[in-house]
Amino acid sequence: MIFTVAIDGPAAAGKGTISRALAAEFGFAHLDTGLLYRAVGAKGGDPELAAQNLSPEDLARPDLRSLEAGQAASRVAVLPAVRAALTEFQRRFARRPGGAVLDGRDIGTVICPQAEVKLYVTASAEVRARRRWLEVGGDAAQVLAEVRERDDRDMTRAEAPLKPAPDALVLDTSTMTIEQAVTEAIRIVAARSASSTTA
Ligand code: C5P
Repeated sequence: MIFTVAIDGPAAAGKGTISRALAAEFGFAHLDTGLLYRAVGAKGGDPELAAQNLSPEDLARPDLRSLEAGQAASRVAVLPAVRAALTEFQRRFARRPGGAVLDGRDIGTVICPQAEVKLYVTASAEVRARRRWLEVGGDAAQVLAEVRERDDRDMTRAEAPLKPAPDALVLDTSTMTIEQAVTEAIRIVAARSASSTTA
């Protein structure tokens, strides 16, 4: 069975938690595509070469979740050559047998426009910054400024900007608990998977 769930949206909207829960619920493989860009940013040197030569060790670095790694990722993610080097791997992952969930910024728009389910998970910048601040601590105003800066860079870049695919379902988690958001996402995927197996 080929079944792709594409989850896009801005930083700290809940994509990762929802993706992991969907993968566990339906037995799908999960790829956090942000980690690829974080690893390229953290590796340093020529970003195109880094993207072409990513190793499993690069993806296992303990510092990839930091705010700095997020900023470095969004800076290398504007480069078309970096995106191109990472495209094929993501496309193959998306269409692997057994089902796959990919979360990122351009999964439903560029990597897998044929995905059976496309969700655009979002929340207000203030809510997202607060969630990130609860995880990483530090200066709350600084965390909000970084969230806004990253949103702006991801949404305004020329190559694969962050935006909902025309046929994506938008899930605004601003006033939802994570349990509510996960329940809603599971309901959407279950409905789509039932209709695609009976079609
Ligand atoms: O999702 P995460 O916060 O880990 O992503 C880090 C950065 O990587 C994003 O801000 C974005 O610039 C970039 N990214 C991207 N395309 C993806 C996933 C992440 O451009 N599919």
